[in-house]
Formats: sequence, structure tokens, C-alpha cells
Amino acid sequence: MADYYEVLGVDRTASDDEIKKAYRRMSRKYHPDIAGPEFEDKFKEVNNAYEVLSDPDKRRMYDSGVDSNDPNASAGFGAGGFGGMGDMGDVFSTFFGGAFGGGSQGPTPRTQPGRDALASMTIDLKTAVFGGTEQVRITTFGLCPDCSGSGSADGSKPTTCPDCHGSGYRQKVVRTMLGQMMTSAPCERCEGHGDVISKPCPSCMGHGRVRVTRSVGVKVPAGIGDDSRIRLASQGEVGEGGGPAGDLYVDIRIRSNKQFTRDGDDLHCWVRVPMSWAVLGHDLEIDTFDGEKTVTVPAGCQPEDTVTLKGLGVTRMRAQGERGDLIAHIAVEIPTRLDDEERSLIERFAASHDGDATHVAQSSRPAAGGQSGKKGFFSKLKDALS
Ligand SMILES: [Zn+2]
Ligand SMILES: [Zn+2]
Repeated sequence: MADYYEVLGVDRTASDDEIKKAYRRMSRKYHPDIAGPEFEDKFKEVNNAYEVLSDPDKRRMYDSGVDSNDPNASAGFGAGGFGGMGDMGDVFSTFFGGAFGGGSQGPTPRTQPGRDALASMTIDLKTAVFGGTEQVRITTFGLCPDCSGSGSADGSKPTTCPDCHGSGYRQKVVRTMLGQMMTSAPCERCEGHGDVISKPCPSCMGHGRVRVTRSVGVKVPAGIGDDSRIRLASQGEVGEGGGPAGDLYVDIRIRSNKQFTRDGDDLHCWVRVPMSWAVLGHDLEIDTFDGEKTVTVPAGCQPEDTVTLKGLGVTRMRAQGERGDLIAHIAVEIPTRLDDEERSLIERFAASHDGDATHVAQSSRPAAGGQSGKKGFFSKLKDALS
């Protein structure tokens, strides 16, 4: 164990002030810049001595026989902790590097993860019913095709930054209230990367990515609702230096359909039938998303009665394979122009049903304006059709 009191030339009872003065004297005397490089070891010894004796705790431990500069010492200051004051910068950057904006030490990788991207697309109701793959065009950062993300032209490699020698940081002396301190800041020349792209790729200016417009196939699940959002992993923005792409989010809107209105998993449509079909009953074909289907209008069908076609609605999101229903609303068309023959037929019909008509008029006909005053889904449906 080195005798630190002897190194500094003070006796064992020296005060803190005497130790400080002795250190200043000795460090000036043995500084390699003044005394010559051969005194480097001596200078380190002086620093080691001051390191221990200027700290009351370490001095106490030293006096009791434990040298905190000794790697074998059991006091926990060992290996690497205070390996000497030879390089002030190292010590201070260990202490203050983080606090003074240096952040984590070491160069910043050129390759950074890309950000998420957002797109939107409008799909047909039929796609929502059955699901399908739709293309959406997006413009975002993609991998530079000319350098495959490396940022360097002609397959050249980045070279170690001559300013920071690859560390990505440069040490600076800052003046603070406590005196001068060493701190580290990102190297300006290499922007903290530690290396320099000497021959930047002309297409991406060394960034490894370029703006590209591309088409992305979006798998739309059957039964998707309006205003849904679909996530496509790794289809977002490619990162700096060709870093891994973020995700792509696609907002889905469903285009309104002239024929069908959706209500949850059910579809609704209007079917106009002549009065005679409503009276006598009739089968008719309608176009559905599943092709032509038969709607059986029962005899005696009333205005706004419905006919349900089971399982021709929207696929259920939570039970793929199952579907809602298609509900056909019957709109009975009352003839407005009759020829003479038709008129006499209706008159004969009316004559034989006179009593019923009176009865209906008194008891079960809706109040004036009742039909058009109906609120909710049916009126919305009508609005959509008009
Ligand atoms: Zn490039
Ligand atoms: Zn640098």
C-alpha cells in the first residue's frame, strides 16, 4: 500500500487545507506537460493520493488500512471505480455525462425503428358482408432501393468519425457555479453516430430511406363495422438507415349502398309490389349479395310487412360462418291511374268489401300522418331510398 502522506509530502495529521495545497503543488510539479512524460506515473500517484486523502471517508478507511484505490480492497471502490485521476474527463463524464445531456454513452445507431403510418379507405358494403382484400395506396418512407438502406453509395462502408473516433460524443469544458466541468455532447460531425458516410447514396442522401407511394393489400375481415381500424404489422414507415418499419393503421369507412341498409348484422331493403300481389300473394326475384333470391310475398301482405331471408345478411364478426338476415320490407304500390276496365273491377271489389272498409277506417287505420310520422329505422330507410 502506497504511503499517500509521503507522496504528497504532508504528515499524517495534516488538515484538509494542507492536503489541498500540497496536492496543487505536487500536481503542478509532476504534471507530464511540465515535467515530461516520464513523470506520468508519479503524477498518477499524486492524483491517487489526493483522491483518497481529500475524502474524509476514504481517508478514514486508509488510516485504518484499506486503500480505496487498491483493486483488491474490500471496500467496494475497487476495480475501475476510481482508477486514478489521470484522465479527469473520464471521471467527470462518468459522474456527469448523463446529467449534462450526454444521454446514454456510446454512438447513436444509424438504424432507427420507423414510425407507424395511418391510411384510410372506403369499402363497399359487399366487402363488409363477405370480407376481402382491398388495395390502399399510401405514401410513406420506404427502403431506399439503391443502397438497400445502408445510406452509402457503391456498396462503400461508413468510416469511423475522425472527430470523435467513433464514440459519437465530444467532451466539452463547461463553466458552472462549481467551476469548470467536463461534459459530453453529441459529435457534430457525425451527428452522434460515431461514423461518417463518406459516399452518401444520391437517392436517399445517406438516410437509407426514400418517400415512396405504394399499394398495400388490406385484408378486410368479414363483418367489419363502419369506422373500424385495421393494423398491418410492419407496413408503416421504414426507419432511418433502413430500420425496421412501423405498423400501418387503416381506417375503414363503408360506402353507403343504394339497395341495402345495414343494421348490425342484418341487411334491410325495400321491395315495391303492386297492390294485387300484396292481396293475392306472389313470388318475386330480387338481387342480393348472394345473387338472385326469391322473396315470397304472402297473400294479404300489409304495407310495411317484412319478409325475412335467413342467413343472407352480414357475416358475424364473432362467429365467422354465421350471418345475419336479409329483411325485405314490402312497399305496396297503390295504382294511381286506372283505365275504365280496371276502375270497374275495383268498384266491384269495393262494393263487396264496403263493410270491411268502414270497419278499417274506424278502428285500425293509423291516425292522419301516422305513416309518414313513423320515426326510426324505417323512415331512415325511406330517406336513403328517396
Ligand atoms: Zn440510398
Ligand atoms: Zn463524430
